[in-house]
Amino acid sequence: MIYDYCPKCGNKLRMRKMWDEGEVPFCDPCDIAWYEHPSPCIITLVINEYEEAALLRQDYIMENQYVLVAGYIKPGETAEVTAFREVEEEIGVKLDTLCRIQTFAIPEKELLMLGYVGFGKKVDLNLSTEVDSAVWMPVEEALKKLEGSEIAHHMLEIYLSDREGIRSHASREEDFK
Ligand SMILES: [Zn+2]
Repeated sequence: MIYDYCPKCGNKLRMRKMWDEGEVPFCDPCDIAWYEHPSPCIITLVINEYEEAALLRQDYIMENQYVLVAGYIKPGETAEVTAFREVEEEIGVKLDTLCRIQTFAIPEKELLMLGYVGFGKKVDLNLSTEVDSAVWMPVEEALKKLEGSEIAHHMLEIYLSDREGIRSHASREEDFK
């Protein structure tokens, strides 16, 4: 988002030259340059010990389409802490390990999505109120179900291209601290 007014004090911003960044909206009273940034969020493909993926339905995000666990990073959190937290909150799975795979930019939503694969035990999925339904599905079948969901589909393709490598590079929550 390009700001016209200061989000903190409401003052009209002026364009100011900021070194290599070029002209940036600037608030004189607050002494802050309001750079244009995407919001960082995580997306996590959850896999259990039977090579099944957790697919979710969240009609408020995408109707009639499976999606993966996703959520915004809170101030003070690392992306990894967010991934562990969101997976537990949204589907009730306590991940054993996590591995970052790739990031995805969604300019039209001003998002930067940090993609992870999380590994956890097959438990009954315990959904948050944000989630309409969720299922464990064999990964090959999940790949077909995710066809309309570009990033989720790509993440599963990446996982399937190197299952052992990704699983062996995954770390426990305490190793990210
Ligand atoms: Zn201001």
